[in-house]
Amino acid sequence: MAPKGGRGSHGRWIEVTRQMLAASASSCSGRDLQNPNQSQAKIVQSQLDIKRWLQQTPSAEAVRPGCCPACQAPSRPPGRPLGLWGHGLRSRQLRGPLEPNGPPQLVEVQLRRYLCRSCKATVTVGPRGVLPRRLYTAGVIAWALCLYGLLGWNAFSIRERLCPWKVMGEATLGGWATLPRWIAAVREARLFPGVRPSPAEFSPRQVAQRAAAGCCAHAVPTHWAAEPAEQAFLGGMHMA
Ligand SMILES: [Zn+2]
Repeated sequence: MAPKGGRGSHGRWIEVTRQMLAASASSCSGRDLQNPNQSQAKIVQSQLDIKRWLQQTPSAEAVRPGCCPACQAPSRPPGRPLGLWGHGLRSRQLRGPLEPNGPPQLVEVQLRRYLCRSCKATVTVGPRGVLPRRLYTAGVIAWALCLYGLLGWNAFSIRERLCPWKVMGEATLGGWATLPRWIAAVREARLFPGVRPSPAEFSPRQVAQRAAAGCCAHAVPTHWAAEPAEQAFLGGMHMA
């Protein structure tokens, strides 16, 4: 089940990455934007975590973004009509644990949608960690990268730990096709674009190791004593 032991060779990786983070300035202007440079699919992450979101889908007003992620128009310009109009809900499936060390689950969340009055973009807002076009949250993906890259698990065991499906298809008997896809996305900066780029000669496990260390380094200080998989989950959620 969950790996134990928060310190070891992986601790060095996390610490080195944390020091690099501290040394580099971080801008928070686009902090809540997911892939602001990429994308028709504009997903803004709210500060609410998934469990709270599932308990009660927040109102359109409660999670209305401060501005449109496409054109930066303010959503509540003083003295003028709203810039981002509520545009209904969209159902979205999420897989994997909802919290560190939790069991794998399959849930449906209702994401909030908005329409930008200025540029007509549709903006989707979800709980923290929800990624565009991915069924797993940033936290679960970071956890998987940690198990693979920092803790040396094989893909089959990671799938068993994180995936809600227990029946294996033949195509997955050798591992888990999703994991190499995530690693390829990290390599191409389509996933966790904030982590240091990996040199071309890095193996998949080295790419996962660097990404996981980057995610762990984003865990808030109160979680630094947690085991690496938990740090990766929490840091990944912040980093997405
Ligand atoms: Zn706009």
